[in-house]
Amino acid sequence: MKSFQATFIFLTAILFCLSAKAQDDRIQAWFPDPAEVFDTPTLSLPDGMADHARIISWLEGRAARDANMTLEKVPAPVSGGFLPLVRFSDGSQGPKLKVWFQGAIHGNEPASAEGLFALMDALHGDPAILRQADVYILPIANMDGYLAGKRVSGSGYDLNRDQTKFADPVSVLLKNLFFRVSPDVAVDFHEYNPVRKELTERGLISYYDVLFLPTGHPAVPAPLRKAVLDHLVAPARSALDKAGYSYFNYFTINSEGTELALVMGARSPQSSSTSYSLSGAVSMLVEIRGIGLGRTALARRTDATRTVALAILQEISDRPDAFRKAVAKARKEVLRGRTPVTAAFHSREVRRDVTFLDTRSAERKVLPDMLVRDALQPVSDRVRPRPAAYVLEASQTRAIENLRTLGLELEILSEPCEMWVESYQVTDYSEDPALWEKIRRQTVRTHTFRQKVRFEAGSAIIRVRQPHGSYAVAVLEPETENGFVHFRVIDTYLGAILPVHRLQQ
Ligand SMILES: [Zn+2]
Repeated sequence: MKSFQATFIFLTAILFCLSAKAQDDRIQAWFPDPAEVFDTPTLSLPDGMADHARIISWLEGRAARDANMTLEKVPAPVSGGFLPLVRFSDGSQGPKLKVWFQGAIHGNEPASAEGLFALMDALHGDPAILRQADVYILPIANMDGYLAGKRVSGSGYDLNRDQTKFADPVSVLLKNLFFRVSPDVAVDFHEYNPVRKELTERGLISYYDVLFLPTGHPAVPAPLRKAVLDHLVAPARSALDKAGYSYFNYFTINSEGTELALVMGARSPQSSSTSYSLSGAVSMLVEIRGIGLGRTALARRTDATRTVALAILQEISDRPDAFRKAVAKARKEVLRGRTPVTAAFHSREVRRDVTFLDTRSAERKVLPDMLVRDALQPVSDRVRPRPAAYVLEASQTRAIENLRTLGLELEILSEPCEMWVESYQVTDYSEDPALWEKIRRQTVRTHTFRQKVRFEAGSAIIRVRQPHGSYAVAVLEPETENGFVHFRVIDTYLGAILPVHRLQQ
C-alpha cells in the first residue's frame, strides 16, 4: 500500500512537471528566436554565460580586425580592474554627433550586453552611420554584478538608483566617463522581469518584448523630451514592427485594492533616463523582456536590443539636424534660465488597454481601460520661480562634492560673506520606515522666507544658468522626489532651516 501511494505521488509529480513544462513551452512559443546565429560572447557558447576572460578576448579580437573600433580599458574599482569602453569612429572631421549606448548597469540583464556586442558586429563593415556620429558603447556598466549574475554592484548598490547620492565609487566613475564623452544621444539598455507577484496572483505575466522609458521629469528641457519621442521612440517602434516584436511604454505594476494600476514612465533624477537627459542629451532607457529567463530566448532578446539600437543610429544618420537642433534649443533654454522650477509634481491618471499573457491558456489577454499614472504627463504641485543661483553652506561637503560629480561649476567663497537669500524651513517631515539602498529616505515640504545669512568661507554658489544647471534644480529643491534631501545627502528634521538657499541675482 505504502509503495502504491509513493508511486501515485511520484506519477502525479511527474504529470504536474510535464504539464508545467508544456504550459511553459506554450508561453515560450510567443517568443521564438530569430533564425540568425549570433557570434557574441555568450550566444556563441553552447550553454552558460561568457566569463570575464572570454568577453575581453572577444572585444580585443573585434577591435583588432576593425580600424573604426577602439577598445579602451577604463581603470575602475571592479573585477578585472577596468571597464571596457568601445568607440566606433571613422576618424573623419566635421561636426559629429556623439552617441552613448550602455548595457548591464544591472548585472542580471545579460541581453543588454549581448545586444550591444551584436551591435558591434553590425557596425563592422557598415560605416555609413559613422559619417554622422561617433558611437560609444559601454556594454557592461556593472562588471561585478554582471559576473555574479546580480542586479547590484560589488558593494551592493543599485547603480541606476545612485546617480544623485553617489554612494558607490563606481557610480562616480560612470558619471565621469559619461561627461568625458558628453554625448548628444544616450540610450541605456536593460531587461525587465515579466513575472511579477501582482500579475501571477491574477494568472498573468508580462507580454511585451520591449518597453520604452523616456523621461517625463519637468526639469528636463522640453525640446529634449519631445526629441526622445519623435526621434528615439518613433523609429524604434517602426523597426520593431517590421521585425515582429511587441512594445509598450515602460510601466511598473501596483495592486490598489482589487484593481491593478500601472505606473508608467520615469520621474526620478536617479534613473539614467532622467539623469542623462538633465545633462542635455536626447536620452531614454529601454527594457527588454528578460530578467530571470537565463538563456531562454536570449537570441530574441539580443536581437530586440540590437534592433532598437540600429533604428536609433539609422535615424541619427537620416536626420542628424533634428538631434542637433533639439540639443541646441535645450541648452539655450537652460542658459537663459527663465522657466519656472517644478519642485513637486505627480503623474496624470489616464486609462489604457494593456496586453498580458494568461498563464493558464497561454493566450494573450487584454485588460481594458487600466488605470495608468503617466509620468510623461506630469502635473505640477509646487512651482517656484527659477533662482539665479543656489547657495550651499560650507558644512555640506558631501552635497558640494556630488554637485561637482554632476558636472556643475561652483564658486567657493574664500572668505565669509553676508547675503540676502531666500531660505527654506521644513514644515512637514517624514522618514521612510524601511531601508532603501541602505538609507531611510526623507520627504519634506517647506516654506520659503527672505533673510540675511552670513555664509562661511567654503560655502558654494551654484549658478543655474550653466550647461548642467538642470541638475542643480533637480537635486537642490528640497521637495524633489530624488533630490539631496530625499536621499539624505542633506540631513534634516521638522522645523529646520535647510543649509541650501536661493539667490535671486
Ligand atoms: Zn535594469
